[in-house]
Amino acid sequence: MSEGGQRGGAAQAAGAALGAAAVGAAGLGAAYWACMSPYSQLLGEFPFRAEGAGRSVALTFDDGPNEPFTTQIAEYLEERDIRGTFFQVGRAVLKRPDVTARLASRGHVIGNHGYTHEFTNYLTPATLTADVRRGQQALISAGVRPGLYRPPWLLRIPALRAILGEHGLRIISGEFCHAMEVFQPAPERIARRALAKIGPGSIVIFHDGFDGRGGNRASTVRAVQIVVDRLLDAGYGFTTVDRLLGIPAYQPDPV
Ligand SMILES: [Zn+2]
Repeated sequence: MSEGGQRGGAAQAAGAALGAAAVGAAGLGAAYWACMSPYSQLLGEFPFRAEGAGRSVALTFDDGPNEPFTTQIAEYLEERDIRGTFFQVGRAVLKRPDVTARLASRGHVIGNHGYTHEFTNYLTPATLTADVRRGQQALISAGVRPGLYRPPWLLRIPALRAILGEHGLRIISGEFCHAMEVFQPAPERIARRALAKIGPGSIVIFHDGFDGRGGNRASTVRAVQIVVDRLLDAGYGFTTVDRLLGIPAYQPDPV
C-alpha cells in the first residue's frame, strides 16, 4: 500500500483507530485531517515547508532502498552536486545495507521510515513503538543513527510524538509529488504536478520504493530528473531536510 492509492482506506482505519474521538462522518473527516494530512499541525509541529529558506528545496525519497532506482536517483543528484534525504524502511535496509551506507557516504541524509510499512502496525502505541525501534536498529546496523522520522502514509496517532521523543527522533512531513505516483504515471505528469506545488522552502516527497517491497520506479526516476533540471533552470538550489530546517540529521552515538 502506498500513500496515494491508499488514502481513503487509511483514513477509515485511522478513524476507527481513534474510536471515541471519531463521531460519524464529520469525525472521520476531522480524523483524516488531524492524522493523515501532510499539512495538519493539530497533533503537533509537522514541518512540510521551511519559512525564509529562499529558493531552496529539499527532495526526499521514501520506501527504499530499492535497486536500481535508489542509486539511479542518487547518482543523478550527485552529478549535479545535489544531496537528497532518503526515508528508508528498515526491512528493505536489512536487504541492502550497502545501498544505505553508500548514500550516507556520499553525503545524502538517511531518515527512519519505520520497519515494516504495514498499516496495521501503525495504529497502536505498542506496535508503533516496536516498528520505530526496529527501523532505527536496522539503520544503525547499516552505519547511520537517524534523528529524523517520517511516518508511513504520514499517519500520526496521538501517541506518536512521545514515542519519537523516547527514540530521539523528530517528525518530518512533506508534500507528495503526485497523488497517483504509486501507479507510475508518465514522468512528465509526475513532474508537472510536483513543479506546480514546489516553492521556496518546499519539502517534496518522491518514492524510490514501494512500502519497502521493491517495485519498478522508473517513472519516478525520470520525473526526478525533469524536476531537478527545471528547478535548476529556475534558479533553485537544493539541500537536505535537516539543513533546510536547521536541525541535526543524526543523533550522536551513545557514549
Ligand atoms: Zn512510505
